[in-house]
Amino acid sequence: MNWHQACELPYYHGSDLGANPTVEGTTFKLWAPTACGVVVCLYATGTDAEPGAKELGVHEMRRGDGGVWAIVLPGNLHGTYYIYRIYFPDGRVHEVVDPYARSAGANGTRGMVVDLTQAAPDGWEQDRRPDIPAHARSVWEVHVADFSADGHSGVKPEWRGKFMGFTPDDTTLDNDGEHPTCLNYLKNLGISHVQLQPIYDYATVDESRPDGGYNWGYDPINFNVPEGSYSTDPYHGEVRIRECRTMIQALHKAGIGVIMDVVYNHTYRHENVLNHVMPGYFFRENEDGSYSDGSGCSNEFASERPMARRYLIDSVLYWAKEYHLDGFRFDLMEIYDVETMNLLRAALDELPGGESILMYGEPWKGGPSVLQQPAANKDALSLLDDRIGVFCDNTRDAIKGHCFYAREAGYVNGRPDMFPEIRAAVTAWCCSDALPEHAPGQIVSYVSAHDNYTLWDKLLLVRTDHPDYNVFDPAVLAENRLAAGIYLTCMGIPFLQAGEEFARTKKGEDNSYASSALLNQLDWKRTAACQGLVEYYRGLIGLRNAFPRLSAPDPDTPRAVRFLPVEAPLVGWVLPAGPERAAWKALCVFYNPLAETRVVSLPEGRWKLLSDGTTSALWQGESTVCTGEFSLPSCSAVIFGLL
Ligand code: CA
Repeated sequence: MNWHQACELPYYHGSDLGANPTVEGTTFKLWAPTACGVVVCLYATGTDAEPGAKELGVHEMRRGDGGVWAIVLPGNLHGTYYIYRIYFPDGRVHEVVDPYARSAGANGTRGMVVDLTQAAPDGWEQDRRPDIPAHARSVWEVHVADFSADGHSGVKPEWRGKFMGFTPDDTTLDNDGEHPTCLNYLKNLGISHVQLQPIYDYATVDESRPDGGYNWGYDPINFNVPEGSYSTDPYHGEVRIRECRTMIQALHKAGIGVIMDVVYNHTYRHENVLNHVMPGYFFRENEDGSYSDGSGCSNEFASERPMARRYLIDSVLYWAKEYHLDGFRFDLMEIYDVETMNLLRAALDELPGGESILMYGEPWKGGPSVLQQPAANKDALSLLDDRIGVFCDNTRDAIKGHCFYAREAGYVNGRPDMFPEIRAAVTAWCCSDALPEHAPGQIVSYVSAHDNYTLWDKLLLVRTDHPDYNVFDPAVLAENRLAAGIYLTCMGIPFLQAGEEFARTKKGEDNSYASSALLNQLDWKRTAACQGLVEYYRGLIGLRNAFPRLSAPDPDTPRAVRFLPVEAPLVGWVLPAGPERAAWKALCVFYNPLAETRVVSLPEGRWKLLSDGTTSALWQGESTVCTGEFSLPSCSAVIFGLL
């Protein structure tokens, strides 16, 4: 099927696809325009292996307008499990979970009818997205299981690795009452948003076993269903919804926004809910009829086709509305066409407070794609809405070296000649020819994410092939601080992988998506071992928030940065505070990647030393006031504020 053929199929304009229970009855609606018959099969349980398993009836649905099959059954069927059996003219029969299913039984093989009011925690109606100003944004990326699985996390055993692991706000390392962990730790660190690796229902972890394995979850099966292995009870579909919402509620209560990592770019296996409902429609094909594989995961989603676009937008809006999410991170965003992303932005903006919902993604893909329309990649930055951002690999690799080649260094660890790229990174590449015209708020500034080496591993691997990941070499810690000192003073949205701030290690594993939980999980003991580094990140995040212009989304702001005439490879710059209230009249920042001290001249004025490269909380107290010359420590980022 090509785009033109897809456009000839009927389009459904209603907003009621799926199973909608009310007091009067439950309506089932499915878009399946090429089917010749559809029945809905009801069950008491999510699988046949459970006590009480029973078929509750089979009901023939009727074809209506827009290629939609529908039926209304009496009563509120909340808690009833269901599948559709779809008959095609060529004799094929598909049994399939509703692509719009709100929940499912264990392992997602049957959908569940959900009355969302019956799957809400206490106080859910009062839950609101926290009001986080643009200048205070910083994103911390974590996997649900990684967050609290550690036996030292202070979280009770039955909640470790689950949605509920995010809910206690007073946990400490082994309950020592001293070193905060989990949510308690995040409140202390000061980040504004948590980005969760996939929380929709994915395939690879066996939900029916407590030791069902570990996976990052980039293998979606049911896009609108929360993952069952993160709930305390995967057999009762309302539990995962309630617990997922409880997690979000707890983060919101702490003033932290929640960003969901969404992976519509492909679906696990060709035999999936979308392909079974409308074969060939939702995935792009090569001319020979084989699947195009721009995701590198065997297929690619055809976002440009009207009902596929519709599905993506409906799904994101559903999560935004029903889970009160604060942002969406798009995996392999280059798979999607620009128009779909801009339409989604506009649709999110329509929601109450929707303009504050963040949207950004990976501006790349996993293989060649057959998409004919402009793709949502870096080349399309100027076509994308200026509130759709991209992960900036230019900044990432310039600071600490190439993400794939372990031994390749960047500015902080052996390639000081990369100072031009660092200068470009400071202004979010807005004053550079490397990227098309864009707003600084479109750039996600970072050095580590779940993919590739952790920052700590990368810094060690550049030095030696076989490092000891548990030795905290002061020289490597200095490189780490300089790396953080750079991207946390760059314009755009700062982003970090959970644990970057306590030298997280995966022992040199650069793709741990299916590695052990032990290798992946946060080792909370490390926060005590690396307390100085944690404090350094904390101080920088606070400092950044005290100087709003650094995060200003306004496209003119980058041009207000004045680079100082320092000797290469040093970088020095000044940014006046601008009209917004700020703690200092201007910020002056120097990066010294060399192994020796270097003397620089401060611009005219009295400058308060805010961060000396080791201690970043100097700005909070009475600190040295400097004028004239200053000696920058080796391998450091030093920050001043104009009094
Ligand atoms: Ca699952």
